Amino acid sequence: MPGNVLIVDDIATNRIILRVKLAAAFYQVTQVQSGQQALTYLKTHQPDLVFVASHLPDMTGLELCSKITARTLGRRLPILMTARRMDAALRIAALQAGAVDVLALPIDDVMLQARLRGLMRSRDTTEEQYLRDETTRALCFADAARPYALAARIAFISSSFSKAEAVRSGLPKRWRAKACCHTGASFWSSVDDGPAPDVCVVTIDARAPTKGLRLLAGLRSLPGTRHAAILAVVEGSNPQCGADALDLGANDLISEDADRQEMNLRLDRLIAQKNMADRVRQSVECGLRAALTDPLTGLYNRRYAMPHLGRMADIAVSNGRGFAVMVADLDHFKTINDRHGHAAGDAVLMEVAQRLRDNVRPDDLVARIGGEEFLIAMPDTDKQQAQATASRLCRVVGTRPFAAPGTGAALPVTMSVGVAVGPRTAPGTPVEALLEQADRALYGAKACGRNQVTLSQTAA
Ligand code: GH3
Ligand code: MG
Ligand code: MG
Repeated sequence: MPGNVLIVDDIATNRIILRVKLAAAFYQVTQVQSGQQALTYLKTHQPDLVFVASHLPDMTGLELCSKITARTLGRRLPILMTARRMDAALRIAALQAGAVDVLALPIDDVMLQARLRGLMRSRDTTEEQYLRDETTRALCFADAARPYALAARIAFISSSFSKAEAVRSGLPKRWRAKACCHTGASFWSSVDDGPAPDVCVVTIDARAPTKGLRLLAGLRSLPGTRHAAILAVVEGSNPQCGADALDLGANDLISEDADRQEMNLRLDRLIAQKNMADRVRQSVECGLRAALTDPLTGLYNRRYAMPHLGRMADIAVSNGRGFAVMVADLDHFKTINDRHGHAAGDAVLMEVAQRLRDNVRPDDLVARIGGEEFLIAMPDTDKQQAQATASRLCRVVGTRPFAAPGTGAALPVTMSVGVAVGPRTAPGTPVEALLEQADRALYGAKACGRNQVTLSQTAA
């Protein structure tokens, strides 16, 4: 079932015609005749979409829109208003009241179906976005939950600069500084130069729509622009063209001769949606980072390191070259905490992480796998190279004392390292065994007096 739709209209013929169209596209339809009935229904049901007639017996369609939108869940519910007579003032008022669009009766079927497909497509993402956004707020990631990024970048793209400028005219001041005009060619050549636009306003000539539609499809599919919101501006009246634009990924439609205020209201909504989507993406990235890295040192953690090591081992088996696994552990680290405080211990850990990172190759992995324990995994490395590197890392830590935070007192720190060298015999062999070898070698280094490197017996 594509979705549940509520129709609010007291005129039976309107309801029936709409229901037939919707049922033909397999939507499940509920009908009510008044605003109050709709509000009561919405207390216990969550449809995916509501059609609201502009006139109802107990309130205006605009009032009902405002009432639905004022509810928390209603804010996520797309509302389409239906009206017998279409005028600019009604469209603007409806958008202000929270409706997505106003459709003229009789509703054009092609356009209706495309609108529905577009709204249903965004339904799941919107729901998920709200859910994630709320979780992010609950976790107090203040940055990720910043409610509104003010400066949106808007690209107006038309067949000529002058046409793009005409579409841009009337843009409110707050957006003007970051709004630019383009032809399709100038837009594509500018894409790599700077940050991607938040919104693309694309003019499509309804009499010759191919070029505009192709541009729109390109925007939706290419990495630099696929997250942008798209507003299609349709020149001329051709419902098929608007429907195609929606199906190719436009988020909203407007007629070229529409009032500027309507354009601004639609842009406002698209920018808010884009900001929400960006925030969610950022919080996912931020969550991933948090799950895989150590907050103190910024190094990868064990959860990341183990599968990474596994892949490194598989590659080593297939290319026949060796790889090394080292476990490095700070010596008598507890005494640093005991003598100079936990903050000094933390500062040492951060500095050790930095020194290790600075002294390995870009494709070597440094991870913090325990309190004062680090793993270093090095592809394309044989026994001698591994031993030389491990000794160098020991020196990098041991020869230059660390500065205690606050006092600047010199803290001598040393480190012991156990080294094991792969490859294991077959791809997919667990790397835990290799890590164990490195661990055992580390105990050997500790037992022999610390501040030194021991190669695993299997490797040596
Ligand atoms: P050894 O040479 O045998 O490794 O001795 P050690 O003192 O380094 O080892 P031990 O395992 O006895 O103590 C490790 C200490 O590391 C104890 C713990 O408080 C400290 N530690 C673990 N994680 C952190 C951390 O994030 N910050 C600070 N400051 N200390 C930590
Ligand atoms: Mg230690
Ligand atoms: Mg330890």
